Amino acid sequence: MSLAKHPIALGYRIVPIDPQAHLFEVVLRVANPEPSGQLFSLPAWIPGSYLIRDFARQIVTIEARSRGKPLRLEKRDKHTWQAAPCQGVLELRYRVYAWDLSVRGAHLDATHGFFNGASVFLRVHGRESEACGVRIDPPPGAEFPHWRVATTLPPAGAPEFGFGDYQAGDYDELLDHPVEMGDFALASFEAGGARHDIALTGRHDTDFARLSADLRAVCATQVRFFEPRTRSAPMTRYLFLVDAIGDGYGGLEHRASTALICSRNGLPYPGMTGLPPAYRKFLGLASHEYFHTWNVKRIKPQVFAPYELARESHTRLLWVFEGFTSYYDDLLLLRSGVLGVEDYFEALGETIANVMRGPGRALQSVTASSFDAWSRYYRQDENSPNAIVSYYTKGALVALALDLTIRQRSAGKRSLDDVMRHLWRRFGRAFERVGAGLEEGAFPAELEAVTGLKLGRQIRAWTEGTADLPLTRLLRGAGVKLALHAATKGGALLGAKLVTRAGALEIATAYSDGPAERAGLAGGDVIIAADGLRVDEAGLQALLERRRAGQKLRLHAFRRDELLACEVVLAAPPPSEPKLTLEARASAAALRLRDGWLATPRRRRR
Ligand SMILES: [Zn+2]
Repeated sequence: MSLAKHPIALGYRIVPIDPQAHLFEVVLRVANPEPSGQLFSLPAWIPGSYLIRDFARQIVTIEARSRGKPLRLEKRDKHTWQAAPCQGVLELRYRVYAWDLSVRGAHLDATHGFFNGASVFLRVHGRESEACGVRIDPPPGAEFPHWRVATTLPPAGAPEFGFGDYQAGDYDELLDHPVEMGDFALASFEAGGARHDIALTGRHDTDFARLSADLRAVCATQVRFFEPRTRSAPMTRYLFLVDAIGDGYGGLEHRASTALICSRNGLPYPGMTGLPPAYRKFLGLASHEYFHTWNVKRIKPQVFAPYELARESHTRLLWVFEGFTSYYDDLLLLRSGVLGVEDYFEALGETIANVMRGPGRALQSVTASSFDAWSRYYRQDENSPNAIVSYYTKGALVALALDLTIRQRSAGKRSLDDVMRHLWRRFGRAFERVGAGLEEGAFPAELEAVTGLKLGRQIRAWTEGTADLPLTRLLRGAGVKLALHAATKGGALLGAKLVTRAGALEIATAYSDGPAERAGLAGGDVIIAADGLRVDEAGLQALLERRRAGQKLRLHAFRRDELLACEVVLAAPPPSEPKLTLEARASAAALRLRDGWLATPRRRRR
């Protein structure tokens, strides 16, 4: 469509008007507004992050004008305004306070600017399916001459990485291309027929050659995973927006980009050898968000098609969309060759340990955890490990259990990979045309359609029940030994998760029915002494290593400003630390299964 012939009736202009005050100014022009009163609102949440965030609370000023004159603007609820009466072109001008250094909101200072559409672009009610123009302007004045723009918003005249005019096909698209501005570093590579850029913000000493090579391997592997025949990516361009800070971790998926926050020490540096744990974690995050390009951005739960952004939108399927993505993020690092089998087993062991540590896994299923993401997973407190299970980690284990089950029952002919490709063909590839998503209870039928296996009862038991998954047995069938060891060599258990906050040793969680809880300790208590001696975290751990189950430990702690003294009867540490190893004497069938499952590049060539 030619823009000149079909003038766009909705236009946004955004300016980082005052970086020091962290203010973006947005001007929204609407041709032909609803004459009796035009409604505008900001989303209450951003897709991919299931928490009500009420972005509208950061709008600090807002005014409406029409035909050069001020217009009455009435606030209707926490995030909705109405301008009335409207004639001709309506213009809204508002300022947004941007001081959320996360991948979910907006942030602006003299070093850079970042925003998600959900936190800055008001929705024009009734006009959601219309195309709109987006002018992104530089900060006023001459103070920031080197600032550029990184976004996958389609350009409409803006030069590459430049300020200027962009566009979006509809409001949903407008929200799905975050924008970074500043003096970022850039690297590019090609994968799946699409150009991939990395825009890296922050202070860092990154080895871009290593970073690009590793990400290219991961991206190419994922494209081949979903499109083994065409090997073509579902987008024409992809952008990794990376913000390196002192300490941070987070990512949010979008249709053609992802915003990542990481600690600068998690990025590769010149001369780095091997795969340090912090970099493995970064690659896992990048792989996770990239996998979402297919799984949740295009294959979606039906309830997200379209998104209801004014209030919570519940689905019981986050174990598929987040859990399966968590399963494949590490597995595809292995298959791309950036991770070795030992590294992969270590990562998988951490996932298993994460699930095993939480007593809440006996109380909540992954379907319930998905449904309650808004009020429980995303709003965790000191009791969460006792009360909930993560649809990420347990969902990843459900994926593993299903993958191994399908491989075993089909003698290696089918796998969860086939199920993912089936979901992709059925829902994802055509999503933009058809708009259909996965219905809440439809997963078992989709699995059966491609594998011929009736696993409905099994899937329900694993996803609606709370029993531990039979991973030891399933892994043995794939030539992998899963052994559980105690976390410490000998020693005794306090039954609490400890953290050091501002130099103080604090109980983060007193685990259900554990020694600390039974002795009267609770989350938030600050431990100051053990057996009459001042302790820090390392000191207390050392003390626990020297004790045995059944022995007593005298603890002094503060609850608020009140001193508590209690005697903890220590317990035996449970075997909760998983160790995965290749089974030396596996059967030929198990070895075949293992090769198909792990499919490391070396094996594939053989
Ligand atoms: Zn995710």
